[in-house]
Amino acid sequence: MKNTPSIVEHHLESLTDQLKGWQSSKKIPPVLLLTGIRGVGKSEIALFLAKWMNCESVGIVESELSMGLFGEPQPTSTSLLPCGTCPSCMRIQNEHWLDLIWVKPETHEKMKTSKMKIDALREVIQSQGKGAREGAHHIIVIQNAEQMTPQAANSILKIMEEPPLRWIFILTAPDASLLLPTIVSRCQRIALKPMTSEKIKSLLKEQEVPNDRISVASELSEGSYKKALELTEDDVWKSRQKLFRFLDNPFQEFSEISDWACQSEANFHLLLDQFEHFIEDCIRWTLQPQSHQWKNTDGIESLCEHTKTVSKNFGSIENSRFFWMKRMKELSEMRKKSEAPLNRKILTQEILHPWIEAGS
Ligand SMILES: [Zn+2]
Repeated sequence: MKNTPSIVEHHLESLTDQLKGWQSSKKIPPVLLLTGIRGVGKSEIALFLAKWMNCESVGIVESELSMGLFGEPQPTSTSLLPCGTCPSCMRIQNEHWLDLIWVKPETHEKMKTSKMKIDALREVIQSQGKGAREGAHHIIVIQNAEQMTPQAANSILKIMEEPPLRWIFILTAPDASLLLPTIVSRCQRIALKPMTSEKIKSLLKEQEVPNDRISVASELSEGSYKKALELTEDDVWKSRQKLFRFLDNPFQEFSEISDWACQSEANFHLLLDQFEHFIEDCIRWTLQPQSHQWKNTDGIESLCEHTKTVSKNFGSIENSRFFWMKRMKELSEMRKKSEAPLNRKILTQEILHPWIEAGS
């Protein structure tokens, strides 16, 4: 994983007080919990913290480690940022650092769900032995900790009660409420804030994303840089055009969209995500039909036409809002259902059918 400097820069404000506190006390809490929406930059910050905790110029290394050959204390700098050039920083950045372990939930293809099982955690912990090997701190990042099975959560809880010396756990999750309260109570929490759409725009510009995609992606990303990047990918962009064509002609396009959405889990979720963006825009339109600023600027014509047809077919703008709100609720139910083994075909058709009636 590579660090994106601008993402770290954005979150630095939320981290500064904590970093300063750890630096002056030379103590880092053994369990940290990074929370924030999907794609806000939790992994990037975990990587940043790993560097920070081991960098030779930050001066956080435990006192006995910062002793010289003959036991005299070594001078440490008070720089707040990892230098990026010392051997520790370099090895962590190049993924050669043995003391940084990433634990991710495994995805079960058949079940279409992902869970973090006890075995995965146990294996990692047992294989690590005790104590740091390479640097000052041995860091275990547990990504998407909300997906731990109860057994996995309990086993991690045990080790968190008495973490081996210089072990640091970094848990990441969208929200603390998704974890067992017993786990949360042992963590020092760091909440990462979503980015402004202006910030996302400037990050996308750095990536040389075409301008038309930048404006749509930054508006729809809800402060998540990762989500914004995904929205600018070619296949997402093309599938949006496909879905706008469905809005134009739901009856004619029904079979094609239905077949496409059933093909893979990725397509099915693309359908859910993009429909949510469209519906949200339509609902907002009902509040201020004359002056509404469309967020899905790549499909303005289709959306304008769609809102006209639907409100005409249902007799009023009020009634059309009711139609879209119902669709929104339905999509969130579908999302839940799709976590269980599913027949995507049935779900897809359930999603698409009401639009034929409303939009033809
Ligand atoms: Zn360094």
